[in-house]
Amino acid sequence: MTGCPLEEKISEMHILKRDGQGIAALAMVMVDNPMCPATGHRICNDCMKACIYQKQDPVNIPQIETRVLTDVLSLPWGVEIYDLLTRWNPLRQQQWAMKPYNGLKVMIAGMGPAGFTLAHHLLLEGFAVVGFDGLKIEPLPNQLITEPIYQFDSLVESLDQRLMAGFGGVAEYGITVRWDKNFLKLIYLSLLRKPYFQVFGSTRFGGTITVDDAWEMGFDHFVIAVGAGLPKALSIPGSLAPGMRQANDFLMALQLGNAAKTNSLTNLQVCLPAVIIGGGLTGVDTATEVQAYYITQVDKTLARYETLVEQQGEEAVLKQLDAASIEILEEFLVHGRAVRKERERAQATNEQPNFIKLIHQWGGVTIVYRRTIQESPAYINNHEELQKAFEEGIYYLEALEPASVDLNQFGHAEALVCHRRLRKNSDEWQTTQEEVRLPARAIFVATGTQPNTAYEFEHRGTFIRVGLQYQHYEDTDGELAVAHGVAHCKDAHFGPFTSYQKNDRRVSLIGDTHPVFHGNVVKAIASGMRTYPKILTLLKEKLGRSGHEEEYQTFANHIAHLFKAEIAHIQRRTKNVVELTIQAPLAAKHFQPGQFYRLQNYETFAPQINHTTLQMEPLALIAAEVNRPLGTLKFIVIEKGASAKLCKLLQVGEPVSLMGPTGVRAKIASKHETVLIMGNQLSLALLHTYGAALRHAGNRVIYVGHFKTKEEVYCQDTIEQSADLIIWITETGEPVSPVRPEDYSVTSDDCLAVLVQYATGKLHAEKNQPEIPLSDIDRIYLISDTHILRRFQEARNTYLKEWLVKKPRVHGSVYSTMQCMLKGVCAQCLQWQVDPKTGKRTKAVFACSWPDQPLELIDFDNIEERQIQNRLQEHLSNLWVDHLLTRLPEL
Ligand SMILES: Cc1cc2nc3c(=O)[nH]c(=O)nc-3n(C[C@H](O)[C@H](O)[C@H](O)COP(=O)(O)OP(=O)(O)OC[C@H]3O[C@@H](n4cnc5c(N)ncnc54)[C@H](O)[C@@H]3O)c2cc1C
Ligand code: SF4
Repeated sequence: MTGCPLEEKISEMHILKRDGQGIAALAMVMVDNPMCPATGHRICNDCMKACIYQKQDPVNIPQIETRVLTDVLSLPWGVEIYDLLTRWNPLRQQQWAMKPYNGLKVMIAGMGPAGFTLAHHLLLEGFAVVGFDGLKIEPLPNQLITEPIYQFDSLVESLDQRLMAGFGGVAEYGITVRWDKNFLKLIYLSLLRKPYFQVFGSTRFGGTITVDDAWEMGFDHFVIAVGAGLPKALSIPGSLAPGMRQANDFLMALQLGNAAKTNSLTNLQVCLPAVIIGGGLTGVDTATEVQAYYITQVDKTLARYETLVEQQGEEAVLKQLDAASIEILEEFLVHGRAVRKERERAQATNEQPNFIKLIHQWGGVTIVYRRTIQESPAYINNHEELQKAFEEGIYYLEALEPASVDLNQFGHAEALVCHRRLRKNSDEWQTTQEEVRLPARAIFVATGTQPNTAYEFEHRGTFIRVGLQYQHYEDTDGELAVAHGVAHCKDAHFGPFTSYQKNDRRVSLIGDTHPVFHGNVVKAIASGMRTYPKILTLLKEKLGRSGHEEEYQTFANHIAHLFKAEIAHIQRRTKNVVELTIQAPLAAKHFQPGQFYRLQNYETFAPQINHTTLQMEPLALIAAEVNRPLGTLKFIVIEKGASAKLCKLLQVGEPVSLMGPTGVRAKIASKHETVLIMGNQLSLALLHTYGAALRHAGNRVIYVGHFKTKEEVYCQDTIEQSADLIIWITETGEPVSPVRPEDYSVTSDDCLAVLVQYATGKLHAEKNQPEIPLSDIDRIYLISDTHILRRFQEARNTYLKEWLVKKPRVHGSVYSTMQCMLKGVCAQCLQWQVDPKTGKRTKAVFACSWPDQPLELIDFDNIEERQIQNRLQEHLSNLWVDHLLTRLPEL
């Protein structure tokens, strides 16, 4: 261990605190660690671990450090004292006061601990800083920014009800809730109060913004602080079956998605017993959160179920629920009643309810690790977290290697089968064939992540990678040199820069994205602290000038305009379709047909009805239209599911969180191709933009649209402009009336049979051969449910084969659940692919990166499994929203 990565002056702090100099002690901490609200108790203990007196209990420095902070915060105007010390600290030998604006601008991608620390130091040096993050960042009340705060308490929100501001990266959505996240609000506030800082959420590095954009916008330096990503699927039989997910997915839905709150609509279905795979802090946090969440979940389910049954009757509530969901519901109701009873008992006896006993009765939560607990990263990094977890009743099993997931009769996870491991010598372990079967109806994978290098996969050739990490460099007088053999994060030559060099432009990398600082919050903060002097040296020739206020205001207004996203227009198009036009200039800038966006309303502006916050879960939406000069995007929202139904409540002018574009673009060939697009109502949006772009580039488009009824087709004229030939298929009712002679309209529930009829010239009495033969088709896009995808995969190799002579590439939609949509951060969208020959699973890919995949590679079963992860809760939320919306006219 190397001790505190920030080299905080610990002894000096102790002496000042001992002598009753509370504010001076805090000033001493803040000499090296102005971001101390994000360190200390519950977060880091590198200082303690490195204590040279290993045979006695070390002084609990983190706790003392945090106490030094909270003692000041609890003084009258304590927030202001902290805030002042961030700007003016006479104990500091550098940066003792904030310098005036120097006219230079830095853009930082990622607002986790690394990003916000670097922002702070650069602001003190007089830079203008724009930070952005892919997460939704909620605004802070203006009053907090502009008016002094007398009491810290007025800033503090109760931890189970606080607004998830989305600021602070993993510190916000991952790290233990036993840490007081009001500290993040303090940091957020202190940065927002700095005059040359702007921050924007819902902005994806690589999609919404590229490095080149930053130069175009006038930035002098770019920083990558996007943390770690790419959680890996566990490649064992049964992996990712309903009930099994990535720990990051769970934690993000729980905290950022607000599932933990009783008033939220976020669906996150968890059954007990639960097993967490992995010995890191993520595993420990997940384990304790699962326990706490389970109680909230059954409580909430019972309360909503009772209201719904009272209003609609049990039959109506249970209608459309499958057998598996009914079984889970019954269990949740029994457990919900037990929770209620325990609460009543505790109240009657004036005690705290003992939910651990109940959790244990229901199977409990177990962490499974491959080695011993002492070797686990959680023990090494922060053993106190493990201690707390045991106090909360978590079970721990050592030396087990997950081997497979057993499924129940519904195909849901039932048990995790592991193989016992034996230690061969101090470093080596051997996996035996001895099986240990752990009952597990929920399984969470927390087996680690890697530095986030998604940008390089999307914009190949921008940065040099070594394996899955960016190569990092030192810059000496304009020359980049690889930083070799960096032993630890205190090495002076750690290499803050990527390989990027365009004239004098450089891009640096910090925090979890940097291999040397990867791993914990205090190292991320240290990376910010150690990188800013290197940026100063890099830009030394431009430093020393003074910036102009007027120039900054013009710049800041322009940036604010580019990053905004607000509702420009809402129009109901059919009974189940609302069209949204959103003004979002930057989001519109890079859109390419085939890509999509993540839409959510802000919790701050979300209506509240009957103790429920009408906040949407993230909705994935394909843009149906883009108008770059106006900076607008149009989306077709099909009102299926609780969140989609909330779109109609959005107001013109309301700011929304629109993140994107994301996903890969659809290919537009330069040699004239014939493309078949076939799909249900969901395909309309893709057709609007992709069809039009294909035709514009000289390709031909055949559209086969299959709909339930004619009413689902509300934009016939626009569709006609996007396709050369259309076959309208409706299942029931009146058929669509084609306007153009080349188009067809039929009533059928079998779109493939219709395709064959078209190919054989039997679709229309007066036409005996197709206008565009299927043999011309070069590429096919299928946007439909798995039933159609499966059938098409079979048909292309059998009865459609004789027409598909060009062996077209067929892309099928893998539109299932997604959360962050940042290409590999939360991993909710992990989707198995199969070997087309053997049908065996090969690898899991991020569907948000690749939503339309080669049909022969798609594991259709896995799409269906992913769709039923939260089925019961989705059903109840849907009914709950309907129930709440009926109350709207009264409001
Ligand atoms: C569950 C969990 C528990 C942990 N517990 C502890 C602990 O107790 N103590 C400790 O010290 N460390 C802990 N860690 C590790 C610690 O959280 C990280 O090391 C630290 O947050 C890294 O900071 P960062 O700023 O580099 O990255 P992050 O905190 O990951 O922030 C990166 C930000 O970049 C954003 N981003 C990602 N991709 C994009 C993109 N393409 N465009 C725009 N923005 C993007 C993300 O949304 C995120 O907000 C834990 C980690 C996890 C996951
Ligand atoms: S920042 Fe963390 S590691 Fe450094 S002294 Fe404080 S508690 Fe210890």
